[in-house]
Amino acid sequence: MPTLLLLPGDGIGPEVTAQAERLARRVLPELVIETRPFGGTSYDTIGTPLSEETLALALASDAVLMGAVGGPQWSGVPRASRPEAGLLALRSAMGVYANLRPALCFPALADASTLKREVVEGLDLMIVRELTGGVYFGQPRGVETLPDGQKRGVDTQVYTTLEIERVSRVAFALAEGRRNKVTSCEKSNVMETGQLWREVVTALHRREFPGVTLEHMLADNAAMQLVKNPRQFDVILTDNLFGDILSDEAAQLTGSLGMLPSAALGAPGSPGLYEPIHGSAPDIAGRGVANPLAAILSFAMALQWSLGQPDLAGRVTRAVDAALADGARTRDLGGTLGTAEMTDAVLAHL
Ligand code: NAD
Repeated sequence: MPTLLLLPGDGIGPEVTAQAERLARRVLPELVIETRPFGGTSYDTIGTPLSEETLALALASDAVLMGAVGGPQWSGVPRASRPEAGLLALRSAMGVYANLRPALCFPALADASTLKREVVEGLDLMIVRELTGGVYFGQPRGVETLPDGQKRGVDTQVYTTLEIERVSRVAFALAEGRRNKVTSCEKSNVMETGQLWREVVTALHRREFPGVTLEHMLADNAAMQLVKNPRQFDVILTDNLFGDILSDEAAQLTGSLGMLPSAALGAPGSPGLYEPIHGSAPDIAGRGVANPLAAILSFAMALQWSLGQPDLAGRVTRAVDAALADGARTRDLGGTLGTAEMTDAVLAHL
C-alpha cells in the first residue's frame, strides 16, 4: 500500500492540507495517510518542531506532504527549536537535494499576473534548485567582532562535483520528459563555484544527456529574462541561493502564491517532500479563506514523483484548470470562495 505522511504544520497549513487530504482520499482510496504535528504546533505540545517519531515515519513513507510552518508567536523561541529549524532538519534528514518548483500559468489566470497576458499565457517552466548545499550551509559562517569594534559577517558558498552532478541529473531527466531544454544559471563570470558549476554541468551533459539542449545563462540575466520572455525557458537548473530568488520571481509570474506547489526529491527511490511554496499566512489563518490549490497541486506532484501515479497527477491538474476556467476563485484570486468551496469546485471536475 502506498503511504503518505501529512504534516499540516501551522497557520493555514492545516486548512489547506485538510483539503488536499479530501482530494487524496477521493482519487487514491488505497493510500494510507498518517498525520503528525509539525513546526510550531509540535513545539507547543512536545517541545520540539520535529519529533524523532515523526522523522522516522517520514523516512519510512513513500511521500510527505507538508502545509506550512512558522508564525509570530514562535519568534521568541530559541533558534534551534523554531518551526523553520524543524523544516530544515526534515529536508536535511530526508536528503532532498533537488527542489522542483513549477511555474505554470493556468489559462484562466493569465490576467492575474502583473505581467501582460501575451507574456505569461501558456507559461510552463520548471525550476530545479539545489537545496541542501551552497551558501546556506557552507562553513565557515558567523559574525565576529574585530579588534576595532566593527563586526564582520561571513557566509561561505561551497559546492562539490557530486552535489552539482546529482541535482543536474534531476534537471536533465525532467527536461527529457518535457521540452528537452535545460538552462543552467550561475555567476561563472565572478564566482569560483559558478565556474565549477558550469564545468560540471557541461561535462555531465556531454557524458549522460547529449540529446538534451543545454544553455548556460548568468543568474542576473536569467532574472531579467524571466520577466522579459519567460516562455523561452523549459527547465532552469540553479544553485540554492540563486534558485531561492529566481523561483520566487517565477512564482510572481503566475499570479498568486496560493497557487504554487513544490517538490523536494532525493536519491531515486527515497521519499519526496511536497509542500506549497507559501507560508503559514497568519493574517488569514483560521478563517477558511486560504487558497487550497497550492497544497492540492503539491499532492499532484507527489502522485507524479513518489506515488507512481502520473495519470492521476494529470487528472488532478486538469480538474484544477477546469475549475478555474469555470470561474472558481478564492479571495487571493479576486473571488469569494472559501477553502473548502474551492476544493468542491476541483472535486466536481475530477
Ligand atoms: P506567506 O506566504 O505566509 O504570506 C504572504 C501573503 O500571501 C499573505 O498576505 C498571505 O495571506 C498570502 N497567502 C499565502 N498563502 C496563501 C494562500 N494559500 N491563499 C491565500 N493567500 C495566501 O508569507 P509571510 O507572511 O512572509 O510568512 C508568514 C509565516 O510563514 C512566517 O512565519 C514565515 O517564516 C513562514 N513561512 C513558512 C514557509 C514554509 O513553511 N515553507 C514559507 C514561507 C514563509
